Amino acid sequence: MQGYNALFPMAFHYTGTPILVMAESIATGDKFLQWLFRNVYDVPEEVMKKMSNPEFLAKYFHMVSKRALERYGLAIDWRREFTSIDPEFQKFIEWQFLKLRELGYIEQGTHPVGWCPAHSMPVGMHDTKDDKEPELEEFTVILFRNEKGIAFPTATLRPETVFGVTNIWINPQEKYVIADVNGDSWVLALRAVNRLKYQLRIEIKEEIEGSKLMNTKVRNPITGEWIPILPGEFVDPSTATGVVMSVPAHAPFDYIALIDLKNNKKYPESSKIAQELEPRSIITVPGYSSIPARDAVIKRGIKSQNEKELLEDATKEIYSAEFSTGTMKNEIIEIVMKYNNNLEVIEFIKKYIAGKSVKEAREKTKELLKKLNAYAIIYEIINKPVYCRCGAEVVVKLLEDQWFINYGNLKWKKKAREALSNMRIVPEEVRSQFEATIDWLQRKACARTRGLGTPLPWEKSWIIESLSDSTIYMAFYTVIHKIREFQIPPEKLIPEFWEFVMLGRGDVKELANKLGIDEWKLEAIRREFDYWYPLDWRVSGKDLIPNHLTFFIFNHVAIFPRDKWPKGIIAHGWVLVEGEKMSKSKGNTIPLMKTIDMYGVDAVRLALVTIAEVNQDLNFTSTATYAAAEYLAKLANFIENLYTFDTRDKCELIPDKWLCSVVSKRIEKVTKLLESVRIREAAIEVFYNIKSDIEKYLSMVNKPCNIIKDIIENWIKLMAPFTPHIAEELWHMIGKSTFVINEKWPEAISRDFDSELAIKYVDVVISDIREITKVLKKTPNKVVLYVTPSFAYSILRDLVTEGIKKDSMRKIIENLATKGLSKKVAATQARRIIGLSQQLSDELKELIRHVEHFDEYSILKTFSDYIAKSVKASNIEIMNSYDKEAPDLGRKKEVALPLKPGIYIE
Ligand SMILES: [Zn+2]
Repeated sequence: MQGYNALFPMAFHYTGTPILVMAESIATGDKFLQWLFRNVYDVPEEVMKKMSNPEFLAKYFHMVSKRALERYGLAIDWRREFTSIDPEFQKFIEWQFLKLRELGYIEQGTHPVGWCPAHSMPVGMHDTKDDKEPELEEFTVILFRNEKGIAFPTATLRPETVFGVTNIWINPQEKYVIADVNGDSWVLALRAVNRLKYQLRIEIKEEIEGSKLMNTKVRNPITGEWIPILPGEFVDPSTATGVVMSVPAHAPFDYIALIDLKNNKKYPESSKIAQELEPRSIITVPGYSSIPARDAVIKRGIKSQNEKELLEDATKEIYSAEFSTGTMKNEIIEIVMKYNNNLEVIEFIKKYIAGKSVKEAREKTKELLKKLNAYAIIYEIINKPVYCRCGAEVVVKLLEDQWFINYGNLKWKKKAREALSNMRIVPEEVRSQFEATIDWLQRKACARTRGLGTPLPWEKSWIIESLSDSTIYMAFYTVIHKIREFQIPPEKLIPEFWEFVMLGRGDVKELANKLGIDEWKLEAIRREFDYWYPLDWRVSGKDLIPNHLTFFIFNHVAIFPRDKWPKGIIAHGWVLVEGEKMSKSKGNTIPLMKTIDMYGVDAVRLALVTIAEVNQDLNFTSTATYAAAEYLAKLANFIENLYTFDTRDKCELIPDKWLCSVVSKRIEKVTKLLESVRIREAAIEVFYNIKSDIEKYLSMVNKPCNIIKDIIENWIKLMAPFTPHIAEELWHMIGKSTFVINEKWPEAISRDFDSELAIKYVDVVISDIREITKVLKKTPNKVVLYVTPSFAYSILRDLVTEGIKKDSMRKIIENLATKGLSKKVAATQARRIIGLSQQLSDELKELIRHVEHFDEYSILKTFSDYIAKSVKASNIEIMNSYDKEAPDLGRKKEVALPLKPGIYIE
């Protein structure tokens, strides 16, 4: 409507395992899925039987979705429709991956990934229940050894606290094992082995009850002191190793557990040993005592180790306080010298750890542990539990020979940041999330051993996974219809073809010869890409910021030159249904088609745009949608009626000019709002506020003037993008034979500030009278309005346009004195006019600036019937407040100010 060509395409993503898993579940008779298909998606029985075929299943929902999008009235160019398993698309993805590999962004290696043990396959957000991306965190493992040299591996995020360890915790109620781990001998909780075996080579040698390990001693690898193993029932073997080092001064859990044990009769011997132990302070933190863990525990009134939530909160507080402002105490040197005679270790601590910030000390402690052979790494899923769609809990696997895209590459990150900084991001608040994602992204497994999709071009047993083949497909939209039109077979879509089409590289003559395709055809395809790219907007959900949307930026900057980098992203909020997040597992998803059948297309569209702005979560409710349907019906009636009104020819009355002006203002506003993607606000202007303007206009005139017809035309054009079907109906109803969607977007007709100020003024007078009658609790009989003469308006206008100056007061008094006011009255008036000028709304100030002369008396005379009708008064009298002859009813003369008449009510 604004005269630009716009490309709005749609394709279907078949890639990955979710479809496969779903088809398998149908085949094995999954009751819930069958229920979901039958009752939520209305899948017919005879179709149900075929759903165990994954491609059939995908195709079925593909067609259902397409029909819904068509009925929804989206102007999609279906010539460009494709699926991600079409051979042409696969050739495109092959080219993309060969490019990424050539650029050094793809590598093979051993890295941790989220892993489904049942599927034996890496899993990402698209494979998990509730679409949870497994977030991995690296833990430092410190090996404490007993006199036999058997290691007790404690996993920690805070290796620098090894200096403050007083004991080791082991859960006396759990089973432990002694196992061969990567050639060393470790003690691990049996339950931990089941998870850690995906990361470490573990061979169990013997099982042992946790209780049997109590009160034996192990040696701190850095300080060299011998410390006891004590019972800790809070130790959870479903996290890390099931062996925990205790740092009571700096870890709230350890602090409270130590106190508990001292008072515990259950383990008398351990309790006795615990009596000897005191928290050892090794870190200074501003704002805390020497035992920060105790401060945090006391602050929350924590009494026992069972208050897990409070303890976790306390842990977070201490962790972040110590990390950001903590310093390692110098006393750690003496501690080490007392037990350890290794001079190298002591020198290292003196030089790199003592007196240093916690941040620095953490890295250096790891280095020291490595030197001492007391160091290992394990990974944990910090947002666990995460479940695969098959139901198995996701674990971390150290995957060997896996193919990765290395988003950790620093040069690549730099380019991605550059692209982001030049992009429009809506809402702007999420830009920092993109920045953070670019910062933390590292290697990402990009291929799977099963599922639908494109095989890796150099190792066909791997299938490129769904978050990796969906990053530059927008470029494919620009050319696929031409490839089909020219009937180019997939085998001709070799990398050189894409190099030319997407990057303009290579000799077109040579390529034409090689492929047996006319040169002009290749040029034509290239032109299509060049015409449409870069894309202006990628519109998607906020949940895809940490993966898809950021990968989209990375891959564009890797493959394309700067002038083809994307220009904007819109990240919208969730769609909730009756206040709840939609999820397949809850069965509360509503297919779009169902809503269309229930409420009508335009009702659904109006509800979706008016419920929330794109950046907010949208709570789709049947009440709101039903209300939208009813409103649209009323609105259509209103316009139909309005169009049949008898009209006047000349549009010269104040209300005529006013209507033209305010609708012009709304057109400008709607255009601006849409440009800034504030669609909800724009829709409210169009559907609600313009209607109120027209209703008000009708109440001010006996017969509308014929400008109303132009206004209706413009109004319908404004509706077209929101509710296209009703807009077309109305367009034809007013006698047009074209499509409104092909019309030009309306422009402001004309602004008329004089009439806007006049009506604004009348509105203020009406609302003031209403306020007063409300206070008086009576219906007015006679209303007397005292207005100031027009020179008073000029005084106010000078204050608005020029601002208040030092001599403003004196000048106004002088001015008023010449109009016959006494010095005293003039001074009061001047003070109050200045006061008034400071209270005016911006809207009113704007109008005053544009209106030089304003005669309140004649405006109120013109509108006295309208005012009387509006406030239900039988008689309105208007008097000049400076007229000495006029009676001063209720002493209201002197309260009259410009644009604010004195009001007397009888
Ligand atoms: Zn699984």
